[in-house]
Amino acid sequence: MQSFIKLDSIKTHGNSISYDFSYSEDLNQYFNKQETFTIEYDLKNFNSAQNISDVPVSILAIPFLGNVLPISWLLNTDLIVPELDKCFYKQIPDIKNGFAKTYPNLSFQGTLSVLQIIDNTNLVPTTGNPISFFSSGVDAWQTLCEHYDEKPVLLTMFGADFYLENTKGNRAIAKHIESTAKQLNCENVFFNSNLRKFINESALNERFEKKLGLHWWNRIQYGFGVITHAAPIAYLKNSKTVYIASSYSYKDRVHHLDASNPQIDNYIMFGSAQVIHDGYDYTRQDKIYNICHFAKKHNIPMFIHVCWKQFDNLQNCSTCEKCLRTCMGILAEGFNPNDFGFKYEKESSQLVKQMLSTKELPVSMEMWEQILYRFKMNAGIIEQYPELKWILSFDFNKRKLKKHKPKCNTKLIIYSV
Ligand SMILES: [Zn+2]
Repeated sequence: MQSFIKLDSIKTHGNSISYDFSYSEDLNQYFNKQETFTIEYDLKNFNSAQNISDVPVSILAIPFLGNVLPISWLLNTDLIVPELDKCFYKQIPDIKNGFAKTYPNLSFQGTLSVLQIIDNTNLVPTTGNPISFFSSGVDAWQTLCEHYDEKPVLLTMFGADFYLENTKGNRAIAKHIESTAKQLNCENVFFNSNLRKFINESALNERFEKKLGLHWWNRIQYGFGVITHAAPIAYLKNSKTVYIASSYSYKDRVHHLDASNPQIDNYIMFGSAQVIHDGYDYTRQDKIYNICHFAKKHNIPMFIHVCWKQFDNLQNCSTCEKCLRTCMGILAEGFNPNDFGFKYEKESSQLVKQMLSTKELPVSMEMWEQILYRFKMNAGIIEQYPELKWILSFDFNKRKLKKHKPKCNTKLIIYSV
């Protein structure tokens, strides 16, 4: 018997969606029987006469497919769906091709059987504001600043970077995002999704991690799986555009593999909306420059949330690599990191020096090179912070690195073009 996954029904209750699906026995290990895939949207700051229950089933099916299609491709199964949006359906071969180009060492197969294809484009005039994913990090802020005049609806997910279990911390983050949206005169939508829990990530990692070079989440689900959650909101808002912020840039010397990249994201469309992988023209340091100047120009308090640690309040630890990198990036542009949610002290400088002198930093070294370059270009800053003088003579080639054993095949993690 051919392996299959079948979407049996989609249930809505107010602004929640749950997906009932079945699959052949051989796929038992890849799904978590204890969890039904469920999404709950919070539309209290969203102007629409309708709610999620008014969205056609053919659109509601899209988040399910965004998370399950890659499983069916890589496990070579048939995926059966009762109804699907025509625009999304037509894009699937290109999206699949984008994954195949990103991971040429894997075979993306499988078949998709849709019983009824529904054209939603005529029903949806594209007059609404765009949707922009917003986590309050550097990339998300860049996209918001760039498209500020379009008054995007800010869409924030809980269930990945922000763990669902951290309810107190999530409330603090939601409160901050809500006030940011109000200040910028934008609507905002939060949603909780158990996208990482209804599948069995560890079984998928075990099967594919070696070839992907990293986890299922980072390499497969984090882009397509997340982006498709925007489909019901884009439908309700009659949006033409959905922005997803890039993590990397075409300018980067080393091109990093990532689940979210232009050769996948820019082919995703649903209803009348087109997804745009936004900000790919800018390096992370370009983005920091842009957003700091935006905050100054518009005189808005900007909290940049980058820390992976799950606090029960709104804060960055200011000591991990990502916090220090963002903090120093802001300082290098002549702004005070303490105005952007960080705690910079004299001791931070020594922490950075120690880290750069001893750690390999395979993903972020290029970003650090840019930060140090900006300090050298903006020399007045080092005069203001004499503890940073070491930067003027720091040489990346003379570092004494502590060797660490990579967990998986690093050759697959990065590739040069
Ligand atoms: Zn941190």
